Amino acid sequence: MGDKKIKILIVDDDDSIREMYAEVFSGAGFEVMEAIDGLDGLDKATKDLPDVVFSGIIMPRMDGFSLMEALKKNVVTGNIPVIISSHMGREEDQKKARELGAKDFIITGYYTPREIVNRVKDLFAENEYRLRIYPDVLDAKKMVEEMRMGAELKCKYCGADLVLAIKPTDIKNHIFSSKFICSQCKKQN
Ligand SMILES: [Zn+2]
Repeated sequence: MGDKKIKILIVDDDDSIREMYAEVFSGAGFEVMEAIDGLDGLDKATKDLPDVVFSGIIMPRMDGFSLMEALKKNVVTGNIPVIISSHMGREEDQKKARELGAKDFIITGYYTPREIVNRVKDLFAENEYRLRIYPDVLDAKKMVEEMRMGAELKCKYCGADLVLAIKPTDIKNHIFSSKFICSQCKKQN
């Protein structure tokens, strides 16, 4: 994506929530568009082609899932990644979002706005590689000890497996920066 701003369409019928996210994302360098429900979102996505749609579920006129289905049916909007946000995180909603091809499902109360921004940015981090480390392999064991990671390599927040995210910082000299992130909640450990 280079230095081009990521254009995000925030779809939520709750003005205070939508405006809060609009502020958070524009503060993080995104170009922000807003829509007040699924139908408005569909209209704006078709006209202005955002890079990513960040949508709530329950809304008047058209809900977040119907919006996803409608976007997918149109060749022009069919490949726009959609992130579903929910303050409830019901299992059936997560399942439905997965089935419809949502890129992520964010339970909003679980994360700080900054973490949510990072998860969205992750979708565009093309040059980052994710490696899973197996602690029982000799070199990995040594590395884990030297980095003082817990020997289990599990997330301290949710207990899922950690992965090592590696990003080239100086390609010519083969220098990479790395961090351990959770494969599930994406928090840095
Ligand atoms: Zn985690």
